[in-house]
Amino acid sequence: LELPKKSEGGVNLVTYEDIGGLGTQVQRIREMIELPLKYPEIFDRLGVEPPKGVFLYGPPGTGKTLIVRAVARETDAYFINISGPEIMGKFYGESEARIRNIFAEAEAHAPSIIFIDEIDAIAPRREDMGGEKQVEKRVVAQLLSLMDGLKSRGKVIVIGATNIPNAIDPALRRPGRFDREISVSVPDRNGRLEIIHIHTRGIPLSDDVDLGRIADITHGFVGADLEALAREAAMTALRRILPKIDFELSEIPYELLTQLEVTMENFLD
Ligand code: ATP
Repeated sequence: LELPKKSEGGVNLVTYEDIGGLGTQVQRIREMIELPLKYPEIFDRLGVEPPKGVFLYGPPGTGKTLIVRAVARETDAYFINISGPEIMGKFYGESEARIRNIFAEAEAHAPSIIFIDEIDAIAPRREDMGGEKQVEKRVVAQLLSLMDGLKSRGKVIVIGATNIPNAIDPALRRPGRFDREISVSVPDRNGRLEIIHIHTRGIPLSDDVDLGRIADITHGFVGADLEALAREAAMTALRRILPKIDFELSEIPYELLTQLEVTMENFLD
């Protein structure tokens, strides 16, 4: 089990600036997670309980993981990233012990964030589970009791992400558990424009590139699709100069490098 710490190893180098089209969601996650982790005294003073669990739901590739990484970096919280299928699969049979260890580790290093991606794999609706699914039932019960028992409220926050919110055991959503939700949706035209700006930041674009037009015609694309689009356009541009590369040389001539530009056509290909 990988436990990337704080902002080490490049895993966590995401900032809010790298997130496009999710202004409202970022704002809410900052209030719900960054504030209590950084300034628990605000919540004490207000007499309001900070959250223990937050659900992020929305289609794949819309930026759920990205938001969590950004908030972990921003708060400098101890960050534990696990995935539901990984817990249930690789560690089958020792899943409950794994979850217990993760919570113990998080409490020991608080402030911490436990991020459970694809939480539906750990905590499917109990009534959907047949008699042979005893392990899943025990894992759900274990997760609930660990959350109920969290001592350092506000200092350990569990974030669960899922593409299918209705597949989650409703017991998880009761007050004191995952009682806040943030929906991360497919970006609209302006969201797409922000995202495409982010993913072309490092790419040399020719003057004819009209990012607004790209945003207009990419209806239905999520962040991950737009990232792939920018990468593909860059690779198409590379293929154009590939025949001119002399592989005998140890370095690409500067002149050739300056010809490496991504055009509108490369995006439309
Ligand atoms: P999944 O449900 O499949 O885990 P996810 O919602 O967690 O998906 P991410 O892993 O956050 O999606 O997104 C994948 C990649 O797509 C990101 O690393 C990022 O490069 C890009 N991306 C997704 N959404 C955005 C966004 N809103 N702004 C900028 N980039 C984005």
